[in-house]
Amino acid sequence: NADTAMYRAKDAGRNNYQFYAQDMNARAMDRLTLESGLRRALERKEFILYYQPKVNLVSGEIEGMEALLRWQPPGQKMVSPLDFIPIAEETGLIVPIGEWVLRTACAQYAAWKNAGVNVCRIAVNLSARQFMQQNLVEVVSRVLHETECDAAGLELEITESIIMENPDAAVETLRTLSNMGIKLAIDDFGTGYSSLSYLKRFPIGYLKIDQSFVRDITTDADDAAIATAVIALAHSMKLQVIAEGVETAEQLQFLRDHNCDQMQGYFFSPPLPAEQVVKLLKEGRGLWSS
Ligand code: C2E
Ligand code: MG
Ligand code: MG
Ligand code: MG
Repeated sequence: NADTAMYRAKDAGRNNYQFYAQDMNARAMDRLTLESGLRRALERKEFILYYQPKVNLVSGEIEGMEALLRWQPPGQKMVSPLDFIPIAEETGLIVPIGEWVLRTACAQYAAWKNAGVNVCRIAVNLSARQFMQQNLVEVVSRVLHETECDAAGLELEITESIIMENPDAAVETLRTLSNMGIKLAIDDFGTGYSSLSYLKRFPIGYLKIDQSFVRDITTDADDAAIATAVIALAHSMKLQVIAEGVETAEQLQFLRDHNCDQMQGYFFSPPLPAEQVVKLLKEGRGLWSS
């Protein structure tokens, strides 16, 4: 059970968060089992959202939460999105699943806000197929309206490869979303093709440096150079930079020294179930206090 795994990891201390993450990868499940299970998972309410804080590297305060999808088939280990999102994408199941994620995250945000819990913003990941849906803007507006979630409270994360697949159509969609007041972030930056000239045309607010560059940032000169360059590039374009996958104090220090704006990672907190987010926020925990 998810929560038990979480508490176990927490009890054992921060270093064990990684075990928890590995625990979750049910790589043993074969593709057919995954696919037929996925088809029924929505109606059986087997999906859960976890939330991972985004923390400001100057103030140390939480500035948002990223919703991360989990699948908990009954009696089995939790399945990682890395294992089922590609299949959901191929089969088209990602469209209803993605809408469920958006709706659940917006409803959670609105509920937290009503309860006086301030999470600043909620970030939702969009898949390629979802982003290319003709009615994406319509779905997003409808969900915001129905959940009474403020558009300014929503951030959408899209990878650069999704945008580059059809940059002209993408820029149109992104402009519409941005005009609605929604914040936009490029996820996994550095792992796909990017055309900097296009990047300039996109109304995005944030670049997220992929965790593959953060992992060895203090020991690998190339990774350090890439991260430093991304931060400089982003700042010259008036974008903020979020580093993903920050696990150590040394990585954190490097990122602060190089003026990175925000971080996410096990060093501060792994993705948490909603109840634990409330606990974290009520404790008022930030980077420089705990
Ligand atoms: P992502 O959006 O880049 O999310 C970051 C991933 O890094 C998450 O994995 C998170 O749990 C993990 N992570 C966070 N901090 C650390 C750390 O310090 N160290 C390490 N090693 N990992 C860390 P997760 O939750 O397994 O999600 C994997 C990917 O699946 C996400 O990458 C995203 O691309 C996709 N995904 C997750 N939820 C959704 C969703 O609702 N919709 C769509 N379309 N994709 C999703
Ligand atoms: Mg993301
Ligand atoms: Mg990412
Ligand atoms: Mg990533």
